[in-house]
Amino acid sequence: MANPKVFITRPIPDSVLAQIQDECDAEMWHTSAILPPIAEKIPPLDGLVTYGHEPVTDEMFDTSPNLKVVSVVGVGYDHIDVDAARERGIALGHTPGVLSDTTADMTWALLLAAARNVVPAYNHVQVDKQWHYYDPNILWGYDVHHATIGIVGMGRIGYSVAKRALGFNMKVLYNKRNRRRDWEAELGIEYAELEHLLKVSDFVTLHVPLTEETTHMISKAELELMKPTAILVNIARGPVVDHDALYEALTEGQIAGAALDVTEPEPINTDHPLLGLNNLLIAPHLGSTTIQTRMKMATMAMENLFAGLKGERLPYGVLHPGGVS
Ligand code: NAP
Repeated sequence: MANPKVFITRPIPDSVLAQIQDECDAEMWHTSAILPPIAEKIPPLDGLVTYGHEPVTDEMFDTSPNLKVVSVVGVGYDHIDVDAARERGIALGHTPGVLSDTTADMTWALLLAAARNVVPAYNHVQVDKQWHYYDPNILWGYDVHHATIGIVGMGRIGYSVAKRALGFNMKVLYNKRNRRRDWEAELGIEYAELEHLLKVSDFVTLHVPLTEETTHMISKAELELMKPTAILVNIARGPVVDHDALYEALTEGQIAGAALDVTEPEPINTDHPLLGLNNLLIAPHLGSTTIQTRMKMATMAMENLFAGLKGERLPYGVLHPGGVS
């Protein structure tokens, strides 16, 4: 019998690719640069590995009537038409948990950088070469320790962010739809309604999945609730924050600063007005990007792919064969 036909949308580590190629007729898009719409690029498939956020649509499924599994290298599958996959019995896997600590670390990298002016300091010394004498009156930041952090979307990543906040002696507030009293007891953190959390937090970090409910969850009204000294960190998905409202908030001093790991769209347009702001730091979606974690994510995605191709339950499944949740 012919090996299953698989397409991988961006380069994955060589050792994982080699294992996939041992069992599959696998083609990999050879560069991380712009991928043409998947449906135009590829022949009918048995398995698809998506590494990036290119839309996987019902129309794409039309071109691969035998598709058994979509395996996402990452957490968050808002770019996949899940209902269409379920209807067609296609399995869907992703890589939850393995990247939570790594993405929490990046949340803290962004939060600390924004609070303590790390990028303006780099620009001052190394780019603009302006460090001619010790100036005690430049680049004053905000204390992180003993401040209040508000974590919106307290799941796997939010929990890891909260644990780190305790090391900074912070007061931790969190918001999610289903309260976790066990985590409150374990970590000494407090549940808060979103409005209250936004009003009292010095730092607000976002970790919700992108859904209809969370699209533009942080918009003009929410930003107006925040303190003028507050810093917003979005490491969830770009559309969770309304970028026009954020621009207004950052230019009118409604909030002190922001750091984004994700934007709308991605990549953000090079002439976007947000790029001109010195109280905003943007990273190119680096949340889970470490050598160790990316290797583990690729391995988990391979395990999901193999299970789906064999018609077995996925080890890290959103949908299992037959479209079963
Ligand atoms: P998770 O464990 O599913 O946590 C998400 C949390 O959000 C859940 O606890 C959920 O709790 C809460 N939530 C959902 N809808 C909400 C709403 N309307 N209001 C308030 N809370 C809501 O997922 P995770 O592994 O922590 O990942 C979270 C998201 O981070 C992913 O979906 C992905 O988009 C993003 N992410 C980004 C990167 C990056 O590189 N920047 C890396 C990994 C993940 P309730 O159901 O109780 O509300």
